[in-house]
Amino acid sequence: MSYIDIVPIGRIEETTLISLKHNLIKAFKIQTRIRNCPIDASAVYDPIRNQYNSSGLLVQLIKDIPSGTLKILGVTELDLFIPIFTFLFGEAQLNGPGALVSAHRLHNPFYGIPEDEGLFENRLLKESIHELGHAFGLIHCFNLRCVMNTSTYVEEIDQKSSNFCRACEQGILHWKNEHLTD
Ligand SMILES: [Zn+2]
Ligand SMILES: [Zn+2]
Repeated sequence: MSYIDIVPIGRIEETTLISLKHNLIKAFKIQTRIRNCPIDASAVYDPIRNQYNSSGLLVQLIKDIPSGTLKILGVTELDLFIPIFTFLFGEAQLNGPGALVSAHRLHNPFYGIPEDEGLFENRLLKESIHELGHAFGLIHCFNLRCVMNTSTYVEEIDQKSSNFCRACEQGILHWKNEHLTD
């Protein structure tokens, strides 16, 4: 059996993880499991920025990949950065094993608006599919509705759908044909 592994980094609501898992199974049609893995976020904390270095977390995430794991998605509430950006919704290795999403800026209260649990989970799903899409070899897509369209602001996440356009869907199928046998 081949899996996408969801790895929580820090505390994440159980219900959020379970709903994410079910929706990733629908999106990729690949078995998905929640797996715990020791990650030391304090090692990548930047006290000046009060943020966590995304690339440093990715390195830890892909250190010991269990057999059967196709891709690993780290999910965290921590605020992520890489040196050239103020913040990141996520990061992934193009065609590599690791992807990472931050829920930190996906909650309405971050923007001074009351929480909307459904909207939050939808944003997290879109960004998770987007980053995993990169891990499955997809680059950014110009189709504004496609989940592989890039999002700099949370409003842009809300404008796109959680689906792949036809071309991106073909890219996922192509990856499966190359890497999966059954
Ligand atoms: Zn992207
Ligand atoms: Zn697309």
